[in-house]
Amino acid sequence: MKNGVVIVGAGHAGVQAAASLREEGFDGPVVLIGDENELPYHKPPLSKTFIKDSEAKPQPMRGEAFYSGNAIDYRPGLWIDRIDLAGRKLELAGAASLAFDHLILATGSRPRKLPIAGIELQGVVSLRSIADARLIRDLSSNCTDVVILGGGFIGLEIAATLRAGGRNVTVVEAADRLLGRVVAPAIGSHVRQRLEATGVRILTGTTVSRLDGNDGRVSAAVTQDGERLPAQLVIVGIGVIPNVELAEAAGVTTSNGICVDAQMRTSQPQILSIGDVASYRHWFTGNDVRLESVQNATDQARLAARTIVGHGDAYSAVPWFWSDIGDMKLQMVGLTTGADNHIAVGETSENKFSIYHFIGDRLVAIESVNRPTDHMMGRKMMAAGFSPTKAAVTAGADALKADLAAYQAVPATT
Ligand SMILES: Cc1cc2nc3c(=O)[nH]c(=O)nc-3n(C[C@H](O)[C@H](O)[C@H](O)COP(=O)(O)OP(=O)(O)OC[C@H]3O[C@@H](n4cnc5c(N)ncnc54)[C@H](O)[C@@H]3O)c2cc1C
Repeated sequence: MKNGVVIVGAGHAGVQAAASLREEGFDGPVVLIGDENELPYHKPPLSKTFIKDSEAKPQPMRGEAFYSGNAIDYRPGLWIDRIDLAGRKLELAGAASLAFDHLILATGSRPRKLPIAGIELQGVVSLRSIADARLIRDLSSNCTDVVILGGGFIGLEIAATLRAGGRNVTVVEAADRLLGRVVAPAIGSHVRQRLEATGVRILTGTTVSRLDGNDGRVSAAVTQDGERLPAQLVIVGIGVIPNVELAEAAGVTTSNGICVDAQMRTSQPQILSIGDVASYRHWFTGNDVRLESVQNATDQARLAARTIVGHGDAYSAVPWFWSDIGDMKLQMVGLTTGADNHIAVGETSENKFSIYHFIGDRLVAIESVNRPTDHMMGRKMMAAGFSPTKAAVTAGADALKADLAAYQAVPATT
């Protein structure tokens, strides 16, 4: 392969794809293109620790030596506008171009915008990049009142972090509960109760209809019920949209993301796509999904590298995710889609409990709060295709371990 692999997007997916190509023995050129002027960094700490610590630095995913030592041509500060499909090259600024044999689109997603009056005021921010996190850190250190639009993971992580730093924080969520799209109602209400106990104000079932400002700076968020919430900082965390435009313009099929098959190939076989931007038929639920998690980005990246070097395995990684909201470590494994019965273990009063979700007798997901053992066991059980009995779930980790070991000791029948 003379032109090798070009990867657009140097986030969790793109960096892992570059690393995995080398781990898989790919010895052609690998070019990794990122639009930021930083070494690629971990995003999860941004909403959890970075914004509260004036000394915090970005956490690089890999040191500089990793790129040079593995002959990965990392090109920061470069935005790609166009793929020349017929010529198998990317058009760069000026007259330059970059040819590829395989192209991996790892372009991620960007914050959804809220079309309300005042959204352009200074002090209104979304969090996706280190630059956004720096801005939030600076603005929050000089303000008393913060309004967060959206009660999803990122909004609530920021709410807990800024509240712990002494700010008055109000979360406004349009749905009637927090984390509505992503976790069981019992978890959403537990999170709400604990955040409220720390002094975070939470409004559900309402939205902000406009933002008011003074001298171009935000001063208040006004709800649809007419309540005026003072705010020197407004954070919009109402979800993300996939960065599909580059693919779309090249005629690659998209539908809520860049559509990929089980080997991460798009409708153009030389182009693969991975991470937040990739939409695929999930091996577990049969639905088309686009998952936004570090696990999904890195596991798809590993598979894309294997596809390029000639393996044919299909994507079958068990999905998992975590979020730290104040004193709650939330961990999710599997997908709850279609779950029809559930078992709760542990105590909400102790801030330690898990919900096991089943379809019939088949374990499909576990959601945990401060019960990392349940989560880790869940990952092992689901990877092995093992569903525990409900009695074993209730009996606890030792029973689950024993039953899983017994299941794995039985040779598979052909
Ligand atoms: C604040 C925050 C906290 C998070 N916390 C968690 C967590 O606790 N647990 C978890 O599992 N996940 C978490 N996530 C989600 C996780 O970070 C994402 O799922 C992951 O970053 C997806 O990786 P990616 O490589 O697909 O996309 P990204 O990381 O978004 O990387 C894509 C990159 O491609 C660039 N790009 C796009 N188009 C072009 C172009 N045309 N030319 C050049 N560059 C381009 C983008 O600007 C971006 O830098 C969090 C995300 C954020 C923002």
